Amino acid sequence: MLTLVLVRLFPRGFRLLSLVRGIGFYAPIARPVARRLVPSLAVLALVSGCSSPNQSLTRHEFSHLAMGVRINAVVYASDEHSARDSVAAAFVEISRLDQILSDYRPDSQLSLVNSRAGQGFGLGITEIDPSFAEVLLGSLVVAERTDGAFDPSVGPVVQLWRAARKQHRLPDPAAISSAVDRVGWRDIELAGLPNHPTLSLRKPGMKLDPGAFAKGFAAQRAVEVLRTRGIDRAMVAIAGDISCSLPPPGQRGWRIAVSHDGSTTDQSPPDRAFTLLLSNQSVSTAGDTEQFIEIDGTRYSHIVDPRTGLGLTNRAAATVVSRNATTADALDTALCVAGIDRFEEVMDRFPDCEARLEAHTPDGSITSKETSGFQALTAPRS
Ligand code: ADP
Ligand code: MG
Repeated sequence: MLTLVLVRLFPRGFRLLSLVRGIGFYAPIARPVARRLVPSLAVLALVSGCSSPNQSLTRHEFSHLAMGVRINAVVYASDEHSARDSVAAAFVEISRLDQILSDYRPDSQLSLVNSRAGQGFGLGITEIDPSFAEVLLGSLVVAERTDGAFDPSVGPVVQLWRAARKQHRLPDPAAISSAVDRVGWRDIELAGLPNHPTLSLRKPGMKLDPGAFAKGFAAQRAVEVLRTRGIDRAMVAIAGDISCSLPPPGQRGWRIAVSHDGSTTDQSPPDRAFTLLLSNQSVSTAGDTEQFIEIDGTRYSHIVDPRTGLGLTNRAAATVVSRNATTADALDTALCVAGIDRFEEVMDRFPDCEARLEAHTPDGSITSKETSGFQALTAPRS
């Protein structure tokens, strides 16, 4: 028997068993979840039920609010008690990471680093948690391989666009140009690896933005915590970032349905949805179907091009599968920025990842590209 629907990111106000709503911005739990925009892509995890050959493992599902979104975990465990304890430990780890990496918390390590940007040797250097160093290092690899299409220091630009969305007014071009001057992953200085990491930002006014790299890392970390506690069949979903270990008993993989419909449901042909079958992998989705502002008939995404400071106007939706969740999280954003024409060029630099990118063409149709191994990850259509 297959029980259906574990986690679903619905476009608007729709609820099924468990609802996960999130925003691209990495917000603290204190911000009311209900007021936020939903993620750009809908991700639906379909989880096998208990009809396993191994009857001693049963399925348990939990949810938790952190990182400004509802987090869902599904685990297979021998009893409810061990499932609950282990998932509690995984959620504690996610909250710990949230406290370190949030750009909404003024007391986070990330905010401290941001506040010291440009202060030079000594004053500007902050000791950071090894997890912070690890996720930042992973994201810097993506920044380098995508020529800065993904840039973890895009904070000054993102702040302008957040304000623009609130005020429904485009950022001032001079403000954009000043923000772009303060962006640059090459000016991030990470030292003391791996045991005593320190971090400094060389340029005054630089700001790290964890929006496109922290959730994936946290999901994978949660799965690792579960594994160390003996639970090796688990899936953790933080908005559009999902990590899993071994599949449910008797199954080939965790079934993760990805639908690119978002607010464009009406125009989306049904064949644009697909189901991934994943094992010991992470998937991340990014796009502009939900998070954008429309001004004077132009639609600007919450994903920005760090080199121009502009919200993307070329509409796109990306899905990346990788064994490394930080890579998947950062790379889907980079693919949206790079665009469909540079898809192969970018993906050639990530031989360990599979990806699919959909883009709207100027004539209003939708075109897509995927890596050669992507289809093999999808479940056959029923
Ligand atoms: P989602 O949050 O919907 O999963 P992403 O993973 O693409 O989508 O993250 C989008 C967030 O990442 C934005 O809200 C912003 O905080 C940040 N961001 C936007 N553009 C970039 C970029 N080019 N590089 C790095 N981070 C970005
Ligand atoms: Mg991302």
